[in-house]
Amino acid sequence: MKKQTILTGIRPTGHLHLGHYFGAGKNWIKLQDKFDTYIEIADVQALTDNFNNPDKVRKSVKELVIDLLSIGIDPNKATIFIQSTIPEIAELTVFYSNLVTIARLERNPTVKNEIKQKKELFGQSGESITYGFLGYPVSQAADITAFKGNLVPVGEDQLPLIEQCREIVHKFNSIYGNTLITPEPYLSEIPRIKGLDGNEKMGKSLGNAIFLADEPDVVRKKIMSAVTDPNKIKVDDKANPDVCMVYYYHKLIGNPNLKTVCEECKAGKRGCVACKKELVNKMLEFLKPIAEKRKYYENNLQIVENILKEGNNKAKKVAQETIKEVKTSMKINYFD
Ligand code: ATP
Ligand code: MG
Repeated sequence: MKKQTILTGIRPTGHLHLGHYFGAGKNWIKLQDKFDTYIEIADVQALTDNFNNPDKVRKSVKELVIDLLSIGIDPNKATIFIQSTIPEIAELTVFYSNLVTIARLERNPTVKNEIKQKKELFGQSGESITYGFLGYPVSQAADITAFKGNLVPVGEDQLPLIEQCREIVHKFNSIYGNTLITPEPYLSEIPRIKGLDGNEKMGKSLGNAIFLADEPDVVRKKIMSAVTDPNKIKVDDKANPDVCMVYYYHKLIGNPNLKTVCEECKAGKRGCVACKKELVNKMLEFLKPIAEKRKYYENNLQIVENILKEGNNKAKKVAQETIKEVKTSMKINYFD
């Protein structure tokens, strides 16, 4: 029996962070054994809101691939490819753009939230939102369907985008005949990892992330400034670990000492500085093997390049098959 297919994407807008690892990446590592897995480096999507910063996107592509390999993505099991090398995705995007209204895109909760964040963080006005950015859910539907994705492992922030993709698939199939596969989202155990600042989402572009590639000094600085219980003023004040980001990360990375951390915090027997220092040590232990693997790939960039070239070739074959089927269904296969 043919294995089911997984398609997942990541935007080359910076390194992987803890949110990616625990919210999505850990799942990809598990799923690559059982599923035909495609991981897209979504450079075209990254350009929708970074079109004026091509250097950042270009630089991030290789960094991201190295991050993926360092956390345990195995290129023999998973196909890693770059979105822009597959023009069939852009073609599908154009076809699908007829099947979605502007109002529906504007109502998409993920898009709405990202626009809100852009306004708050970067002072961008509604007028600066481009046609390309508003339409990225359509291109994401093209990503998923080009590879006949059955399952899409994502963080919770992406659920409305999968829903939008499903709507596009239904509409396409009902107009042009059954052609596309309807994908299902696949959430990790912790579908949304919070930021150092207590924000509901740790995000690359939100300035609240611990990146897997952060140097020890940077990790230390970030953890020392993480948000703790605001009601704890003195060292021996009793505190509530449930509102403390330091406790949250102790838990996230599986500190074996978690019970003690929790009890001492509640009893006022542990100061925040000591607690943060303990987290720094545990976090560095967690990041060390990833950093070692990264060094290996950074010193062997040819291997990384070959993985990408092979991935692009393999992905292209599948997308070409899909576009042929789509064009036939749409009756634009003039010379077949
Ligand atoms: P950007 O701010 O540029 O959008 P991002 O941090 O949101 O970056 P993406 O490349 O958009 O990262 O997301 C890649 C995948 O990681 C998606 O499946 C997304 O849902 C997931 N993800 C990102 N951040 C988190 C998080 N904090 N918790 C859980 N999953 C996350
Ligand atoms: Mg994102």
